[in-house]
Amino acid sequence: MLSQEFRRHLHANPELSFKEYHTAEFIEESLHAEGIECRRIAETGVLARIEGQGDLSRAIVLRADIDALPVHEQTGLEYASRYEGVMHACGHDMHAAILFGVLQRLQSERTFEGTVFGLFQPGEECNPGGASKVLAENPFEEYEICAVLGEHTDSGLEVGEFGFCAGSFMASSDELRFWVRGRGGHAAMRDKIDDTVTAAAQLILSLNALNTESVVLSTGRVVANGATNVIPSEVAIEGTLRTFNTIGDNIAAREQAWNDIRAAVEATDEKYGTTTEIDISRGYPCVENDVALTATAERLCSEMFTAKRLARRFVAEDFGFYCEHYPSLFYRIGVGEAAGRSHSSTFAPDERAIAPGVEFMYRLALEILSK
Ligand SMILES: [Zn+2]
Ligand SMILES: [Zn+2]
Repeated sequence: MLSQEFRRHLHANPELSFKEYHTAEFIEESLHAEGIECRRIAETGVLARIEGQGDLSRAIVLRADIDALPVHEQTGLEYASRYEGVMHACGHDMHAAILFGVLQRLQSERTFEGTVFGLFQPGEECNPGGASKVLAENPFEEYEICAVLGEHTDSGLEVGEFGFCAGSFMASSDELRFWVRGRGGHAAMRDKIDDTVTAAAQLILSLNALNTESVVLSTGRVVANGATNVIPSEVAIEGTLRTFNTIGDNIAAREQAWNDIRAAVEATDEKYGTTTEIDISRGYPCVENDVALTATAERLCSEMFTAKRLARRFVAEDFGFYCEHYPSLFYRIGVGEAAGRSHSSTFAPDERAIAPGVEFMYRLALEILSK
């Protein structure tokens, strides 16, 4: 099967995070038709394995995510989503198709040194992230993993352009929840109440002051369900924390931010007599690109295509979990400006990006394995 046909099948039949049952079946069938060995991983993911020559314990992992989003497609494409309210609006169908194309080529040649894993990973868009579920199964325990490679479509780049960023590339993300509690009551009897609403307002300002060049903290939801003359006994606040931290750093920006958040809460409680409960729900780690791998990729890319340097981004990606364990590289692949914004109902990446995507990942995998 051609990569384009493979992609169109996935695009027309999208499934939400951790519900990629038919997607996984389709991938398994397609791989088997090519004679590629594979098995299920993390319930709705598929792990393919192709053995080359020589020392088979040395391996590379090529990863594509396969989940879709709760978006109603409005592209009008002939292969548009058949399911209402579900769409491959983040290009994961493109990632999977490129990986399928790379595996087809490696399977037909098998002259490389070592083992290649093709990881079709579920649940990138939702906590706790499919990557964490994959790693919890320890699938690469008996291997020396020399690299994990992943990519993402990018409409800021034209077809044939690839984007790279050495070191910290994408931020960690944590969900923040606060419940500011105190004695509610009549708003006119201020000596009998704890002003939870003003305390919450103060807390939001204190949290906002924690924003720096490498820390983003935003509160997006506040619920103070009192009335003109009623101070509620609880105000709920929700927000997100994004940080960059270099893996191996002793005092990571992320942990520092957690401490700063707790200190802001303590200071607020002390001033207003409130008691605030905090929940910091740990999300994806930072995507930290291996510097040597990035240099190899940029050099190789500029021999064939156009390599661009990218600035770091405050959005998160569960690929960060692989970076914590193995030398990893996450790069961006151009799908043209006309593709529009990802996560939107009209996102339509240019399929001409598949061929260069396959060529580049294939060549990069061979280059890394040959070293
Ligand atoms: Zn996405
Ligand atoms: Zn995505």
